[in-house]
Amino acid sequence: MTIERTFSIVKPDAVKRNLIGAIYQRFENAGLKIVAAKMVHLDSAKAQGFYAEHEGKPFFDDLVAFMTSGPVMVQVLEGENAIVRYRELMGKTNPEEAACGTIRSDFALSMRHNSVHGSDSPESAAREIAYFFAEDEICPRG
Ligand code: GDP
Ligand code: MG
Repeated sequence: MTIERTFSIVKPDAVKRNLIGAIYQRFENAGLKIVAAKMVHLDSAKAQGFYAEHEGKPFFDDLVAFMTSGPVMVQVLEGENAIVRYRELMGKTNPEEAACGTIRSDFALSMRHNSVHGSDSPESAAREIAYFFAEDEICPRG
């Protein structure tokens, strides 16, 4: 059994539609524990740094504009195999390809407005958690 931490964002499209609670419910129903959370409104520099791996891609400027268009919720989720399990719970990037019952299938509006972010590897999880949270802002739940 591997207890992992992963990093999650409820994106501006979901916050605007009052879906924070519905999406948090999905985390908790899946047995993922929220061990840190806050609401932030990203500026361009913070969003560009977060998505640095996508710099230069055709959708990069749109992505940064979208991610800075309104507040987001950022959180750390903890649980068994949390990184892969949360990616499965989110569903594929394009909601039209996301499996039924996944967060993106049920809530996302489009490839860009796709409601949630989740780390894709242990390395990204560590980087992304540290990008938003100091260690003493994370509360072990036992
Ligand atoms: P994720 O890990 O599933 O979120 O997907 P990626 O890391 O590949 O892309 C990051 C984010 O950029 C996605 O969640 C989308 O919001 C956005 N994105 C990715 N590919 C595209 C695309 O082809 N077009 C547009 N408009 N947005 C995209
Ligand atoms: Mg990604």
